[in-house]
Amino acid sequence: MGRHEALAAVDDTGDLASVLAARFDGAPAEEVITAAREQFADGLALVSSFGAESAVLLHLAARVDPALPVLFIDTGKLFPATLRYRDTLVERFGLRDVRVLKPSVEDLQAEDPTGALWMRDTDACCDIRKVRPLARAVAGLDAWISGRKRFQASSRSNIPLFEADGPRVKVNPLADWDPGDLRAYMQAHDLPAHPLVAEGYPSIGCMPCTSPVAEGEDPRAGRWRGGEKTECGIHFPLPQENENGAGI
Ligand code: SF4
Repeated sequence: MGRHEALAAVDDTGDLASVLAARFDGAPAEEVITAAREQFADGLALVSSFGAESAVLLHLAARVDPALPVLFIDTGKLFPATLRYRDTLVERFGLRDVRVLKPSVEDLQAEDPTGALWMRDTDACCDIRKVRPLARAVAGLDAWISGRKRFQASSRSNIPLFEADGPRVKVNPLADWDPGDLRAYMQAHDLPAHPLVAEGYPSIGCMPCTSPVAEGEDPRAGRWRGGEKTECGIHFPLPQENENGAGI
């Protein structure tokens, strides 16, 4: 069986992820994305924050297939610079299917009517503004691509190229990239940087929960600074489908 031959016979998500991870161990990121597109076809999407390091993965994906669906979570709390950067990259890379995910009006009215939930409960705020919109969007998918890398945080130090995420496979084509690899790729392809990187933001999320990072600090130290929170929740197992198969 060739390396890119689809694995139709593997039903279990965990087994499928393990087989793909072993098969593509050490493969370049573009080959991993190509393999994911071949394996999952229209059941695959890429999730991007259009943050500090997003240009690399989006550029690689556009080289494989500019029609690959790209899911962008607009929490309503993003920096205006992020929205402008998104538009710049979409046009530059020719991305043809960028889908903007938003929190539901009902959730906001019921749980965050003033928009200040982040001040007293960041987990609840991330849940209604990020986790639930993404869970709804991926409910019909078989796999999604993320831009996580092992160097970003100790909690990410062991992520594989392919992993099980509930009933779906999560693909991490940049898992083994380091900051030097990212810089080299950006330079080689003359990719524009997120404008906030030059202002001391190596990791960029929502405006209220992101602060600049000092020299020598962890790149994600500016996310939810002062609290114990390190992840927004979209990389924990997402809420699963209910018995009828509909997303929750
Ligand atoms: Fe809310 Fe902050 Fe999470 Fe954004 S990062 S969804 S503002 S808690």
